[in-house]
Amino acid sequence: MHGILSGLDKIGITGMSNMDIYGDPGKNGEEDSTGKLPGTWFSEAVEKDFLYDKSHSCPVCHNEFKTPTVRANKLRPMGADYDLRPRFEGIDPLKYEVVMCHECGYAALGNYFDKMTVAQAGLIREGITKHYKKFDATSTFTYDQAFLRYQLALGNAVIKRSKASEKAYLCLKMAWLLRGKKEAIDGGVLEYEPGKYADTIREIEVMQKELLGNAIEGFIKAKQSEAFPICGIDRTTLDYIIAAEAVNVEDYVLALQILNDLIKKPGISKEMEQRCHALMIRIKDT
Ligand SMILES: [Zn+2]
Repeated sequence: MHGILSGLDKIGITGMSNMDIYGDPGKNGEEDSTGKLPGTWFSEAVEKDFLYDKSHSCPVCHNEFKTPTVRANKLRPMGADYDLRPRFEGIDPLKYEVVMCHECGYAALGNYFDKMTVAQAGLIREGITKHYKKFDATSTFTYDQAFLRYQLALGNAVIKRSKASEKAYLCLKMAWLLRGKKEAIDGGVLEYEPGKYADTIREIEVMQKELLGNAIEGFIKAKQSEAFPICGIDRTTLDYIIAAEAVNVEDYVLALQILNDLIKKPGISKEMEQRCHALMIRIKDT
């Protein structure tokens, strides 16, 4: 993998691999591709019990379709990582958060899917649909299939000139998705190509770092130009997430700067204060 959008080449959307996602999308390149999809290298987990088919109408091409969606009432929370990535028993719901129209290639996180202006639909038809090579929908997603859907959602967000927060949120979730993939590999539930363990993990870690760097950049931009809650996240929580991800990309100066401000904030909850202190100890220990 080279670049957070490199997977889109496989479905015909080329020229985005090295794109600055917060810059001007400009013109999309044109090139043929093999149409080969990421391999399903592992036997799929029993996820179907958690899923149902939700109906959607595409705001770009008006195609009616169904997509596998997690039943929220079936989820059993198992706490969160120190950067607030939630964990659940039996399924990684992040895999199912992108809604995608297989007819035209439009994709977005579920909460954003229907929000579309006429101008944005035009940009997507021109920048995505024209190049997109159709592939079939499946009833469950592997990590690689899910990651491709996120790449497509991020590509769409760049093309339709979404706010920085939407792109940052996608990058954050993509990094979390890759963490889930790494855990699945290390936990023995996801196979990797024989002899390629070290390469696979290194690839995941490089990509994660790049995504988190982009998430931090986008959330900082969003804080300057958008109103809270940003992506449904309040200011304190978002600051904490930025600090935690800054630790993950080894930007300790930024992390400490945010944490020092956060702990002095009037009205901060005891729980958040404890999280901030724990993160500061983590920084000291590195
Ligand atoms: Zn469509």
